[in-house]
Amino acid sequence: MLKGKTALVTGSTSGIGLATARALAQDGANIVINGFGDKAAIEAERAGLEKDFGIKAIYSAADMSKPAEIAEMVATAEKTFGALDVLVNNAGIQFVANIEDFPPEKWDAIIAINLSSAFHSIRAAMPSMKKRKWGRIINIASAHGLVASPQKVAYVAAKHGLVGLSKVVALESANDGVTCNAICPGWVLTPLVQKQIDDRTKASGKSVREEEIALLSEKQPMHQFTKPEGIGALAVFLCSDGAASITGSAYSIDGGWVAQ
Ligand code: NAD
Repeated sequence: MLKGKTALVTGSTSGIGLATARALAQDGANIVINGFGDKAAIEAERAGLEKDFGIKAIYSAADMSKPAEIAEMVATAEKTFGALDVLVNNAGIQFVANIEDFPPEKWDAIIAINLSSAFHSIRAAMPSMKKRKWGRIINIASAHGLVASPQKVAYVAAKHGLVGLSKVVALESANDGVTCNAICPGWVLTPLVQKQIDDRTKASGKSVREEEIALLSEKQPMHQFTKPEGIGALAVFLCSDGAASITGSAYSIDGGWVAQ
């Protein structure tokens, strides 16, 4: 379905981004991967995408907290492949503390990486998408884009902002063949969440499984993690012809978290 098209997935060296890049590649898209990590592991991922799915893949080391690097990454994607058709804003970080203990530099970093990066990448990618009358923009928000939890002031603010940003972009591009949607996952077992479980285990002295169940049942009626591949499958659907009129939506994939 996406054969001949190009997809850029930010923060795709790990977790949800990696699974989404692989799902889009499986559907035929050429891929730009991005994110931090071990050089050899990133090269293995890039080469694996090409080998497993018969597409072309390049890597951009752009730092999503740096607007100039984001613009350059989008320009490189367009130059290398002739166009950027699918943009998935996924890079994200987390920090947990009460607001009075929340370091201002952590607030700035979370707002920059989890929210402002999407503004900068969409701003750079939109002119060409509008010109070609086709584009799919998917912002990986969170259940925390729709509801709040304590100690996550920057993350919740950034993810609510990302849902709002997605709606504005959807309105502005509604008749240009471009759709923009947010995906709002609940708990997905990735390194970002594993770290939270490890921190809880250290603090409580309980087993990892006990803390996993405790973490899930605080929020989700369904006591199972969403798989990163499930997010990838939803992203592929949002790129399909069947989803051509879905725009400005916030798609929950969260085991019933926000249904309560
Ligand atoms: P992860 O930690 O496994 O991956 C994060 C990715 O972002 C990595 O590739 C990392 O290198 C990259 N990244 C971080 N800072 C960056 C920067 N400055 N520039 C470029 N890349 C950077 O996390 P994940 O769990 O896969 O999360 C991916 C997205 O999904 C995040 O936006 C997160 O908020 C969101 N999300 C995750 C969950 C969950 O339960 N895991 C739930 C809801 C939403």
